Amino acid sequence: MDCLFCKVLNKEIPADIIYEDDRVIAFNDINPQAPTHALIIPRRHVATLNDIQPEDCDLVGHMVMVAGKIAEQQGFASDGYRTVFNCNSHGGQTVYHIHLHLLGGKPMGWPPY
Ligand code: C5P
Repeated sequence: MDCLFCKVLNKEIPADIIYEDDRVIAFNDINPQAPTHALIIPRRHVATLNDIQPEDCDLVGHMVMVAGKIAEQQGFASDGYRTVFNCNSHGGQTVYHIHLHLLGGKPMGWPPY
């Protein structure tokens, strides 16, 4: 399968990995949009949010919990941060392996366009 993030998982493409466990890894985005911009991805390939099955709910919850842990470690959990899943073209998804963006370290605006 020609998936960029599967290649990151298999260490075929380098990434600045900041967290890993048996279900997910997190690494710094190569094009950061905030002082901290990390991506949390599952080891299991799931292309989009539309492909999530009931048995993936725990995995997605784990991704969110890891985002919170990283925010805590980086020291901006109490100030706040943003988490985003982009889905398909209108959502701005460019890599078709689900990933949770974690952005923090500065105040952010809303709406995001
Ligand atoms: O949500 P979306 O699919 O647009 O996000 C993909 C993200 O993956 C982008 O923020 C991009 O900078 C990041 N990326 C990366 N390392 C790569 C390729 C893309 O961090 N090798």
